[in-house]
Amino acid sequence: MPARVANLAGRAVLVEGDAAYDVATLSQGRLPPDPMAMPARMAELDELAETLADAEPTAPVDARALGPCVPHPAKVIGIGLNYRGHAAETGAEIPSSPLVFSKFSSALAGPGADIVLPSESTDWEVELVVVIGRGGRHIPEERALSHVAGYCIGQDVSERVVQWSGKPPQFDLGKSYDTFGPIGPALVSLAAVADPLDLAISCELSGDTVQSSRTSDMIFSVPELVAHLSGVCTLEPGDVIFTGTPAGVGMARAPARFLAPGDEVVSRIEGLGEMRNRCVAAPAPA
Ligand code: ZN
Repeated sequence: MPARVANLAGRAVLVEGDAAYDVATLSQGRLPPDPMAMPARMAELDELAETLADAEPTAPVDARALGPCVPHPAKVIGIGLNYRGHAAETGAEIPSSPLVFSKFSSALAGPGADIVLPSESTDWEVELVVVIGRGGRHIPEERALSHVAGYCIGQDVSERVVQWSGKPPQFDLGKSYDTFGPIGPALVSLAAVADPLDLAISCELSGDTVQSSRTSDMIFSVPELVAHLSGVCTLEPGDVIFTGTPAGVGMARAPARFLAPGDEVVSRIEGLGEMRNRCVAAPAPA
């Protein structure tokens, strides 16, 4: 059975319905408790998931108690303008090679974490997130998926003024405020997801559907991204790739709409579940 691995209070748990099962306990110590060790062990986790029917849950799942399913990856890579619909709404040309930026891993947050808004120009971007399972360099496209542990949902929250300030603009800081990278609810084994990718992906903001598309609208596919990135740098187990957002972001609306304190951002991807993140105002600096 394809594993769904979450991070409950710093320990890896398998999630099935509303129940969480501690991975180290369930595996009688064959697998460690550290969530960061999980992306490299997905085949064993798929096997372990077969035993859940006879197991006693460790705890109920409470999304707000979950941490990021991959808590401190070596790299968090973002891809810009990777959906045809999003490229069109921003008036940008279709990129001829992937547009790459980084989010600092300190921006990652749990699937039910609050998004802390530093400004009135903070935007939403629901994204399919790829987690690397087996590292490598110069990974060919046709073998790329054998290096992928699985997928989760991500929000590539973006402060647009900071993102676009400077010439040329440098995206990294605008996308790296603390809490700007909720991921989850669980890392879902590749075995659960069909290839090629054609999953419904959507974002709802306080009841309004603001993004609704399919991952098949991507310009560069997951294998193409893994091949392209690993041509430059070694990908390591646990590395996280935000694969771009579909049409419907706030800055492309007329008038523009941004996140406000009290908003709830609901991010959904078919087969991966949903995340609910509440927006709160940043406290004034002391
Ligand atoms: Zn993005």
